[in-house]
Amino acid sequence: MSDMFNAIVATEVEGKTKGLLQQLTLSDLPDEDVLIDVSYSSLNFKDGLAVSGKGRICKRLPMVCGIDLAGTVLESASDKFSVGDSVLVNGYGLGEKHWGGYSQKARINSDFIVKVPDGFSLQETMAIGTAGYTAMLCVMALEKQGVKPSDGEILVTGAAGGVGSVAIAVLANLGYKVVASTGRPETHAYLTELGASSFIDRAELSEKGSPLAAERWAGVVDSVGSQTLANAIAQTKYNGCIAACGLAGGIDLPSTVFPFILRGIVLAGVDSVMASMELRNEAWARLSTDLPKEKINDISRLEPMSDLPALAEQIVSGQVRGRVVIDVNA
Ligand code: NDP
Repeated sequence: MSDMFNAIVATEVEGKTKGLLQQLTLSDLPDEDVLIDVSYSSLNFKDGLAVSGKGRICKRLPMVCGIDLAGTVLESASDKFSVGDSVLVNGYGLGEKHWGGYSQKARINSDFIVKVPDGFSLQETMAIGTAGYTAMLCVMALEKQGVKPSDGEILVTGAAGGVGSVAIAVLANLGYKVVASTGRPETHAYLTELGASSFIDRAELSEKGSPLAAERWAGVVDSVGSQTLANAIAQTKYNGCIAACGLAGGIDLPSTVFPFILRGIVLAGVDSVMASMELRNEAWARLSTDLPKEKINDISRLEPMSDLPALAEQIVSGQVRGRVVIDVNA
């Protein structure tokens, strides 16, 4: 039937949550004020957890997965958006509390929607996606603490992942010297192309280290957490800043107060989900000027929505390089 469309819907299968391809109609969608013809979504670590059922991401079921989306407004009861506008959404509980972006059509609360900044195609916005916009928020957090290129090296952990790849490209473009921590030596050429100037094996950072190690980093963008974050904190230079946004290596933080009380370092937590509209608009404006266009292509690849169950398994096991754009119409 022509009014049916495809979506990846999380439901309970044999006691476990799984995201599977289903057909929906417009009457299944929630009652929100903007109807969007979705073109692309993307694959983030959280999406991997939701679709594979390896993390408790969906707060209710059934849930259309996908924490971000980009598309064109089809109907709008909000005076902020008109039919034909190109729009994007990141976070705000999409794919968790509110039906998300792995769907050919989506009804979304207009308070969550950002107009696509000039110069970006819909596909490019999802090549950046939540992971890339979070990377920008991390860079902005370092800048807010006054970390400048002349202060020294910046460590990026989880370097070959989505947040890491975008953080490296933006930092290098801004003139920072970036040291990339990765567990995948085969990505060194890719990371060098993005702007990394040297590498550190992720095993070196994930082993238990001294609570106060030799000072090395002016700043850190960490998407790994756990012992890696603890070591990064211990190695951060006097007055340095660590932007912590992720948990790919674990949720604990086995650190001490020493680096904070002896070196005045700042641990800046970064959350993209409930970030204010002002901060989102600032981050997207910065991405349009500070992330070189050609790097967006280097970082990303396009995959069909029908492959999401397999892609979800890959991202949770750390096998995805850069960013994956999801074509919801394929
Ligand atoms: P990716 O899977 O693309 O990247 C994560 C990277 O972390 C991997 O590529 C790998 O890098 C590294 N990694 C994976 N597993 C481990 C491990 N066990 N130990 C050490 N390193 C590991 O995910 P995203 O970039 O989409 O997300 C990264 C993290 O940031 C996630 O935890 C995600 O939940 C979080 N996040 C948080 C947001 C927020 O609002 N705070 C928003 C977006 C993401 P390599 O192969 O180079 O070693």
